[in-house]
Amino acid sequence: MLNGKIALVTGSTSGIGLGLAQALAAQGATLITNGFGDADAARKAIADAAARAGHPVAQIGYHGADMSRASEIEAMMQYAESTFGGVDILVNNAGIQYVAEIQDFPTDKWDSIIAINLTSAFHTTRLALPGMRRRDWGRIINIASVHGLVGSVGKSAYVAAKHGIVGLTKVTALENAQSGVTANAICPGFVLTPLVQKQVDDRAARDHLSGEEAKRSLLGEKQPSGEFVTPEQLGALAVFLCSDAGAQVRGAAWNMDGGWAAQ
Ligand code: NAD
Repeated sequence: MLNGKIALVTGSTSGIGLGLAQALAAQGATLITNGFGDADAARKAIADAAARAGHPVAQIGYHGADMSRASEIEAMMQYAESTFGGVDILVNNAGIQYVAEIQDFPTDKWDSIIAINLTSAFHTTRLALPGMRRRDWGRIINIASVHGLVGSVGKSAYVAAKHGIVGLTKVTALENAQSGVTANAICPGFVLTPLVQKQVDDRAARDHLSGEEAKRSLLGEKQPSGEFVTPEQLGALAVFLCSDAGAQVRGAAWNMDGGWAAQ
């Protein structure tokens, strides 16, 4: 379905980004990866997923740009242009978390979270749009969070950045509404990735719980299903947004959160 399309997924060396990259590769897209994790292991996992789906891949790109630096993002987009001819599917996924109440929130953590979780998407989007508009086809998928829709104590920078990226998504969708370029946000609830495992570990230490008890306690507070969302489920939603059936989904903030935001 996505044969011939070039997909760039930021922060795709682990967690949700890796799951999204695998799902897109399994539909035939050519992947450009990014992130600070093990790039070769990620590329192998993506190649395996593509091969299992009958789409063996010749090349999987990687650029190690730090998403907190505009100049490195510009170099990554230049690499995408010169090596692959541009980006058709842009998934803004790289993100970090830090939990502390506002009066204790380190200002450098605030700056990093806003830069990586929000400003990076402005830079990749502004640089990807000219090519997408020229080709009159593009899909911009911003991995926001249920925290783009509701707040939680201790997560001021994250919630501000995620509400911000939902706003950026709407404007991107509107500015391109009469073109083949769509922009949408996906808003996951808890997914058991390294980012959330840290919150599980912190809770286990704080409340003297086992790992399993800490997971149940974290989910029990927020996620009515009592189950984690999976990267595979998020990947299937991203594939839908890239399909022809998704062509008139524009500016949506689509939650997949086990019922979290319904409360
Ligand atoms: P993760 O820690 O597993 O992966 C984050 C990825 O981003 C990694 O590849 C990491 O190397 C990369 N990254 C971090 N800082 C970077 C930087 N400065 N430059 C380039 N790459 C960088 O986390 P995850 O849970 O998979 O999170 C992915 C996205 O999903 C984030 O935007 C996060 O906010 C969002 N999200 C996660 C959850 C969850 O429950 N895990 C829920 C909602 C939204």
